[in-house]
Amino acid sequence: MTATAAHSDHQPRPDQFGGPWGALLLTIVMPTVSFYLWSAVAQHGGSLWLPRSTAELLAMFPAPTWDAAAMFAAWLGLQALLYVYGPGRVVEGRPTEHGERAEYRINGLFAFAVSAALLVAGIAADLVSPSAVLAQLGPLLTIATLFAVVASALSYVAGRRRAHLERSTGNAIYDFYMGAILNPRIGRHDLKFFFESRIGMATWGAFAILMPAAELQATGSLSTAMLVVSLCQLFYIVDFFVFESNLLTMIDIIEENLGFMLWFAFLVWMPFNFTLQQQYVLAAHPSLATVAAIALVVMHVAGYYVFRDSNLQKQQFRRDPSQPIWGERPLTMDTARGTKLLLSGWWGLARHSNYLGDLTMALAWCLACGLGSIVPYFYFLYFAPLLLNRERRDNAMCKRKYGADWDRYCEKVPYRIVPFVY
Ligand code: NDP
Repeated sequence: MTATAAHSDHQPRPDQFGGPWGALLLTIVMPTVSFYLWSAVAQHGGSLWLPRSTAELLAMFPAPTWDAAAMFAAWLGLQALLYVYGPGRVVEGRPTEHGERAEYRINGLFAFAVSAALLVAGIAADLVSPSAVLAQLGPLLTIATLFAVVASALSYVAGRRRAHLERSTGNAIYDFYMGAILNPRIGRHDLKFFFESRIGMATWGAFAILMPAAELQATGSLSTAMLVVSLCQLFYIVDFFVFESNLLTMIDIIEENLGFMLWFAFLVWMPFNFTLQQQYVLAAHPSLATVAAIALVVMHVAGYYVFRDSNLQKQQFRRDPSQPIWGERPLTMDTARGTKLLLSGWWGLARHSNYLGDLTMALAWCLACGLGSIVPYFYFLYFAPLLLNRERRDNAMCKRKYGADWDRYCEKVPYRIVPFVY
């Protein structure tokens, strides 16, 4: 059987997110929502708004500027240099179904520490003005969106060129959105890993530093809400880099093709929309009582514990299935696929307790902005359906991978995300 024939036997159907029409809708809706939300904060005081004129509608899409383009290029260049030349171990990813293995440089903590130190030193030395950078947030959003569109088109073409080795549906609209290539590379460097970790997460981290700095610059002090949101988010981002190699076992890297959905998520969604809380604090100055701040930090820590502990349990189990979990020898299930499934710890309570932890943290960050507007709740409002959908998609993928063994696992662990509830 030829490779092409083997591929077409397994050609997936364009059946996720409502198929090609859903993919087309999302390709339009994701950027529109991002521009709308940026505008809600930057131009409408943090409130939802309805356009009263064409001019107001068009103002939602800021023109790119040379300053923003220079910042974008400099940041991209810095991250690429740190990735390629920064010290760190090189690990191999999981083999693809065609036996290809990409190499990954695990030096994100070093790269983020250097980037954050440069940013803080630049701000302290008056070389970087946080307010001036944030004044370019709109043009930066436009540039990042254009970059995502071009990158998606290029990776779609790259995917079509090696279609016999890639998993795609053959429907151009759907494949543009979902991707037609698993691991596009420049040389040995996997673009998906680089853009998720070093652009998505690191740019989010840079904004989480710049926004409190801008508040300090503008008002001379830091609000409690800004402190809670930025410190919790920076904690989450640094934690991500500490455990950066875990990304190599995540669905994004091992299963999802790199198409518009992920390009846009890494370049725009994560840095711009995940910092809407801080953008809102800068625009609307919500107050947060100390006792509420403490409660939210406790909520964040509780969520973090569930999130990190559950992810570590699976990680440790994959390395050594005999290691104790919560002090006891883990219960496991053999499968025809050869890999075992864990039935103890968080993975015995629900099939995705890790999502519950993530959602708890997300809600804590949003609540810090008070109840004055729904805009800073965007992170939670989008994240909850995303994880609900992701759980269903992972369930379908696991059913494909494990067959009847997955049904047996689901019988033993009936809850999806929230133990004893859902
Ligand atoms: P998971 O880390 O939950 O991985 C799912 C995979 O784990 C399955 O495909 C299966 O793969 C394996 N698995 C499932 N059940 C078991 C079991 N009982 N025993 C052993 N292995 C099992 O998926 P994600 O990549 O979605 O999530 C990772 C983390 O990233 C989560 O904490 C999530 O909240 C977070 N996340 C954050 C996002 C954000 O925007 N902030 C977005 C998405 C995720 P296999 O058997 O092949 O190993």
